[in-house]
Amino acid sequence: MRLARKFTLALVLLAVAVIAGLQVIQVRRELERSALDMQHDHRLLGHTLAGAIAQAWQLAGEREALTLLNQSNRYQEQVHLRWVWLDGGPGTPSLVGFPPRLLATLRQGQDGSMVDPTPDPGFLHSYTPVFIGPRFGAIEITESLGEERQHVFVTVVGTIVATGAITLAFLVTAMAMGRRLVGEPVDQLVQLAARIGQGDLSARVQLPRQRRGDELTMLADAMNRMGEHLEETRARLATETAARLSAVEHLRHADRLTTVGKLASGVAHELGTPLNVVMGRSKMISSGEAEGEEVVECANIIGQQAQHMTRIIRQLLDFARRRAPHRAPEDVHELVTRSLSLLRPMASKKSITLEDTVPPGVMLEVDGGQVQQVLTNLVMNALQAMEKPGTVRVRATPERVAPPGDVGGPVGDYVRVDVEDEGSGIPANVLAHVFEPFFTTKDVGEGTGLGLSVSYGLVRDHGGWIAVRSEPGRGSCFSIYLPSGGTTCQAAS
Ligand code: ADP
Repeated sequence: MRLARKFTLALVLLAVAVIAGLQVIQVRRELERSALDMQHDHRLLGHTLAGAIAQAWQLAGEREALTLLNQSNRYQEQVHLRWVWLDGGPGTPSLVGFPPRLLATLRQGQDGSMVDPTPDPGFLHSYTPVFIGPRFGAIEITESLGEERQHVFVTVVGTIVATGAITLAFLVTAMAMGRRLVGEPVDQLVQLAARIGQGDLSARVQLPRQRRGDELTMLADAMNRMGEHLEETRARLATETAARLSAVEHLRHADRLTTVGKLASGVAHELGTPLNVVMGRSKMISSGEAEGEEVVECANIIGQQAQHMTRIIRQLLDFARRRAPHRAPEDVHELVTRSLSLLRPMASKKSITLEDTVPPGVMLEVDGGQVQQVLTNLVMNALQAMEKPGTVRVRATPERVAPPGDVGGPVGDYVRVDVEDEGSGIPANVLAHVFEPFFTTKDVGEGTGLGLSVSYGLVRDHGGWIAVRSEPGRGSCFSIYLPSGGTTCQAAS
């Protein structure tokens, strides 16, 4: 039930109880007054008659006196008059059942009365004592209680009707007032809370002017102010988030460009061979050394080498390009192949073998460019960490695992991509900091300290994490965990 209705009902019930109680007291009082009135009337009549009867008794005798009393009945419509002996002498009726206390009162010369409940509706008997010489009797005045009962009935019915009418009027008025004063504003406040809860922070409530100063208006004002604060905070948050995202994106791009710089020397070296072939073949054609069929063959070779160079340059440009993050199903094998192809010139320069044992067909819902950036960073670090010829291994294994404490979440299915090197390894005091932004142990121009922190942010954006194992002097293994289902997790970048 609504608050206003409950409140109104409680008020009405209280009012009805009070009115009914007052009416009951009123009816009782009226009954008592009516009984007293009857007794008073009887007493008046009794005393008026008592003087006349006593006088008639003395002057004309018992018979005349009683005749006078009987004749008085003719003029009485509501009461019946009768003479009763009360002294036990001749003519005295049986006094069995006559209240002894009433008898004693009468003997003292005082009036008295009693109610005889049978037959229904009962009678009121009033007695006025009369002393005739040595004898003692009383004028008995009897009146039916039927009229009083009728009066009570009419009064009670009237009271019930009046109480009902008052209750109804009160109920209707209280309901209308309750709805207007409490129900409607509370409804408006509830709607406002619901709209704010659904994210509509522009919602406001305006209660009528005449309500100014009451508690509900104060609550409405407070809720309006809360909405304004929330709106401001959301706008500020959106601006700050956009700025932060843009900063992160700039940082990621900066890291990508740094990587491109590091790759460039290897790529330039890679372009050297096809360029030499192109120049040699073109010289053969221009000098006339190549003739007939050979010219066509030279042209074909020039075309193939040009295509090869274009592919290398496109790969590099592709890697460097700024683009909006976009998730799509990607084959891990292809991502690894693409990343390693740019790094091969650098590896071969140091006589390092890049071993890729990722089976085709392991699919992930990821941003290919971002994962490629992470793989490139890890493999490049591995190459930089190896002073001697050796092997960098890249593996991919599906794994059911629980995320570490700082990532949180239940056990789930992930694809683990390992980048393992045979390099210098990482001492424990360095290992604790490798994911911190701008942390580097490399010389100026060699390292920026961005690679691992940017990579960690990118992987966390995919709902995964990076783990590292390292043994100084033997090598390191960086493992990227990416959720198989492509779940997202917008955690710290
Ligand atoms: P940068 O490579 O520019 O220094 P990173 O964030 O990629 O920045 O790496 C931070 C540091 O972590 C490196 O300077 C290096 O000391 C250490 N590190 C990263 N990868 C390896 C690795 N495979 N072997 C040894 N040390 C590594």
